[in-house]
Formats: sequence, structure tokens, C-alpha cells
Amino acid sequence: MTRHTRNDAQGIRTTAVHGGEAPDPVTGASSPNLVMSTTFASDEPAGFSAHNLDGDSGFLYSRWGNPTARQLDRKLAALEGGEGCVSFASGMAASSAVLFSLLKSGDHLIAADTNYAGTAELVRDTLPRFQIEVSLVDTSDPANVANALRAETKMVWLESPANPTLRLADIAAISKIAHQAGALVAIDSTFATPIATRPLELGADYVIHSLTKYIGGHGDALGGAVIGGAQAMAALNVEAGIHYGGVISPFNAWLIMRGAATLPLRMKAHEEGALVLAKFLEDHAKVKRVLYPGLVSHPQHALAKRQMDNFSGMIAFQVADGEAMARRLAKRLEIIHHAVSLGHHRSLIFWIGTGAMMESSFRLEGAALDSYRALAGDGLFRLSVGLEDPADLCRDLEQAMG
Ligand SMILES: *Cc1c(COP(=O)(O)O)cnc(C)c1O
Repeated sequence: MTRHTRNDAQGIRTTAVHGGEAPDPVTGASSPNLVMSTTFASDEPAGFSAHNLDGDSGFLYSRWGNPTARQLDRKLAALEGGEGCVSFASGMAASSAVLFSLLKSGDHLIAADTNYAGTAELVRDTLPRFQIEVSLVDTSDPANVANALRAETKMVWLESPANPTLRLADIAAISKIAHQAGALVAIDSTFATPIATRPLELGADYVIHSLTKYIGGHGDALGGAVIGGAQAMAALNVEAGIHYGGVISPFNAWLIMRGAATLPLRMKAHEEGALVLAKFLEDHAKVKRVLYPGLVSHPQHALAKRQMDNFSGMIAFQVADGEAMARRLAKRLEIIHHAVSLGHHRSLIFWIGTGAMMESSFRLEGAALDSYRALAGDGLFRLSVGLEDPADLCRDLEQAMG
């Protein structure tokens, strides 16, 4: 059995700064080199197949492994307390790497019924074309996962907190249920980051991040990563990295590594700002409902306190006529950008209408739709609270909302 524990002797801020990095042995350069070379000169012949790779192989070709990307992999593995990590070109490349390399025709996948739109569409529309059966359940209750398990269930896919409702999944409880049935647990932990939650320590097998969000943190580089056991990551590197080919660019790895160094400090500030904004919105006359794991009004606040060391910077809120308000905010906001994406130093806001979301991504019906509407109403604003002064963000919303 693989044991996943972060190096507890070292603080998380030290790990974020130094994890995976070391001064260059030749030049002594203190910050990581950006190695853009696609190929590497060697003084002996080597095998031409990815299956010849072993732990001691030097660098050969950058799709197989790149020195800059490898330093990022090591830093992310250290932050999550995992044995290994493989970085990809985007969060979706990381998610599809896990789904396609581990599932085969005849397998059954249990996935959260609301999650990142790209993942929702991939599991609903693409996996069934490969005869992979998918059950979509509300993973905020572990009993729903238990009820959906079958003999063919190979994997449970979670996202916590989930986009856009900030619904949580009890990772420890669900991992126990899934493992008893012989299924793997993969979790998209993008909203939480390793500062809030370490899913491997709670029993998950694979952690997925969109590095484009908090870990990169500055809105200037796409990237994704999977963290897990050493053997699993070596297999994922061969199958998905080398053979599917969606590897991260060394330049993006370099930018994201620079961002990751300040992740603990930024998450502290994101959380601090989000708490101020969540309370401001809760008191605002035009706001009907605020969803933020750090508020006592969040339906799973107790689980949030247990499972998250930081409540992160993502808030969802409802107003009376959301669509009209979205048009108003898009024109009038002066500091907060009306834009998709999240986890950047700049605050971002975007309207997610329930009708449009059901048509394009979630397609929930009956009780599942009722349960979504109970949280989201006709739609939600998703606010990613950046690193600006919280008082300025409140003033910006105040003047724009009217
Ligand atoms: C953005 C996001 C993704 C996809 O990541 P990309 O880097 O845009 O491909 C996946 N999951 C979550 C939760 C996200 O927010």
C-alpha cells in the first residue's frame, strides 16, 4: 500500500518555496532554469520506446520528460504529500489523462452530477462512446455513491468544492466506500488547492488540479497536474504524457512553479478577502443567497471545517434577476473583471444561468434538477476573490449593483 504523507517536519511555506527545486549543479543558479530544449544529447545509445524508461533514465526528449517540468512535478507532489506527479498542458488534459488511461470499455464510472463544465461534458458525451457507463450522482451525500456502486464500478470521480455550487464531497467517507467495492477515487481539487485539503491523506488515489487557477495564480499560463502513487504516476506518464502527448510547455511549467512558491500566502489572502466579501454579500439587500464554505450558512459548513484548512476564495451568490444584473455588472464593474476562470490575483466574476447550464453541460432532470435549483435558483454569480483590498472589492460591487 502506498502511504501518502506530506513532510510534516517542514512547513508548507518552505515546501512551496523550495519543494522540487535546487540550485543548478553546474552554474549554481538559485532559481530554476527554463529548459526549452525539446531534445537532449546523450553519449550512449538508448531505447526508442517509452517502455524503456526507468527511474534513472536521463532526459531524452521533452515529451518524455523535461527538467523544468520535472521540478514543477516534484514541487506539486511535495505540496500534496504524493509520491509522484505528472503535469499536463491544461486541467482538462490532466482530467482526460486519468479517465482515458484508467477506464476501458465495460467499466462503470460514478461521477458528481455537477462539476466543472468541461468535465461534465466529457463524462456525459464522450465516455459513453467508448462503452464506458457513467452514473451521475449528487456526491454531497456519500450514501448516493454507495447506492450507485456496481460490480463494474472502476472509479469514483469527485470535485470538492464543486463548480459552480460550492458543494463539497466527504473525501474520507467516499474513499472508504469506494475502496471496499474495489473502485479507485479521483478528485478534482482545483478549488481547494493543497493548502486547504490533501485528498491523498484522506484516502483518494488521484488528485487532479487545473494549474491555470490557484496554483499558477496569475492568469497567464494554462496547465494541469495529476498527483498520486509512484507506480501509478510512472504508468500515467507513459500512457498519457508520452503517448497521448498533452504535456505541459516548459515555459508554462516555469511560470506555474514561480506562482506555486507563493501559494500558501496567496491562499491566506484569498480566504481573508472571500470571508469579507461573503459577509458583505450576505448583508446586501439585492442578494438572495450566498454560498461560501466558510460561512455558517453553508449547508456543509461542518464538513468544510473538518476537511478544509482554508476556505479558499470562491463564492457563489444569487440575486433576483440574475441575467439583468449580469449585464449591469459587465458594464459597470471597475476593478473586478467580468470574465471566466478563477484563482487569479485579479478578482473575476461570471454569471452561470441555470437554464443555459442544464442545456449545455449538466442536463439534470427531476430530483437532481430540484436539488441543483435549491442551491442555485435560476442562476449564480461565481466570484473568484482576488488579492486586491477587500474593501475596494466591496465598494466596486456596491457601486455596480446599485
Ligand atoms: C478550470 C478548471 C478545470 C479545467 O482546467 P483547464 O486548465 O482550463 O483545462 C477543471 N476543473 C476545475 C474545477 C476547473 O476550475
